[in-house]
Amino acid sequence: MASRFDGQLRWLHKVRVYPTCAQERALVKMLRVTRELYNALLQQRRDAWTSRRLSLTSREQYLQLTELREVEARFAGVYRDCEDAVLHRLDLAFAAFFRRLKRGETPGYPRFKPIARWNQLEFPHGDRALKFDIVQGRVRVPGVGAVRLRKGRVVPEFGRAFLVTKNGRWYAVFEAHRTVSPLPATGCSVGIDRGIRVLAALSDGTMIENLRPGSRRKAVVKRHQRALDAVTVKDAIGRPLNTKHQARIAAVRRLARAKESEANARRDWLHKVSRGVVQRFDCIALESLRMRSMTRSAKGTPEVPGVGVRAKAGLNRALLDAGFGMLASLIREKAEYAARTVIEVDARYSSQTCVACGCVCKESREGRRFTCVRCGHAADADVNAAQVILLRAESPPMRAPGTARGRQHYAA
Ligand SMILES: [Zn+2]
Repeated sequence: MASRFDGQLRWLHKVRVYPTCAQERALVKMLRVTRELYNALLQQRRDAWTSRRLSLTSREQYLQLTELREVEARFAGVYRDCEDAVLHRLDLAFAAFFRRLKRGETPGYPRFKPIARWNQLEFPHGDRALKFDIVQGRVRVPGVGAVRLRKGRVVPEFGRAFLVTKNGRWYAVFEAHRTVSPLPATGCSVGIDRGIRVLAALSDGTMIENLRPGSRRKAVVKRHQRALDAVTVKDAIGRPLNTKHQARIAAVRRLARAKESEANARRDWLHKVSRGVVQRFDCIALESLRMRSMTRSAKGTPEVPGVGVRAKAGLNRALLDAGFGMLASLIREKAEYAARTVIEVDARYSSQTCVACGCVCKESREGRRFTCVRCGHAADADVNAAQVILLRAESPPMRAPGTARGRQHYAA
């Protein structure tokens, strides 16, 4: 189902909703019926292909869906648009399958959906289906009733909408569009590099932590993990034996919520940091995504100091990398809304390059410190790397590695 905001900047508004017990039962039933429908439509396509070599299209299935609704009360009881969206979702799964097949890959055939993988109801014409009361305190969902919304979230005009459940909570997601509104120019530029111990460093010396400094969320997650371990009974190879015990189920739920809360806090913090960056700088230089995927290798990046990095340090590194990816994509997104410039830079050897003289040498780098072996320039290693990235954005041919000058110094 094409959204009427196609081609514009998409803006998702997620709002917590508080269904009553009866409303939640109705929502769960809608999930069950739509999932059943998805699996039935998939089965039908599989059968048509294996027995008669027929490719069923959504047009044919759409008509059959209409007939099905006339004879089966449980399908008729669910809002029609949600069922159409299921058909569309199946089409998307097949489109992805055939696209990969065409590219010469060996994709898996679209799979049946288990309960764990079916957690959202789609309303393709959400503004027609979901109606707010006058103060946006409740949203009327067809077949469910008026569901209470979290206070103080102003939802703009929207098109498509979803009702999503996660860890026993419900959310409404509204898809709105957004036009570009340029921010006033500040005349400043910045380079950003992924850090070693912190998430990122800015060329002006600012360090960005992965989580808001002083946050206790990590400790809370650890505590819930220990509590879960305490109630888990394991067999000889470490598989949990009491997965059905109420106490363990509750502990699993508490841990999942603590992790979700930590992830929310991290995302919230990165939203704030990225907004600050986009407000302060006209031009933002970031490591190129394409370059990164090309240079990633099994033996690690040139950025990782020393050899034989401990496994735990590697894990920490992976977490920081994931966080940096999120920060970078939030900056890209917000820069697009604000009409700021983002320059993608090849970041290879940025941590070994001296910003003062351009010398590339592994020995200049020692842990957190950077001391140039040629000119003696000393700085924080991450800040130096961020400044190198900014410099490369401003004068790409001069400092990029692989040029005669860069290579010459690297070899020296
Ligand atoms: Zn130097």
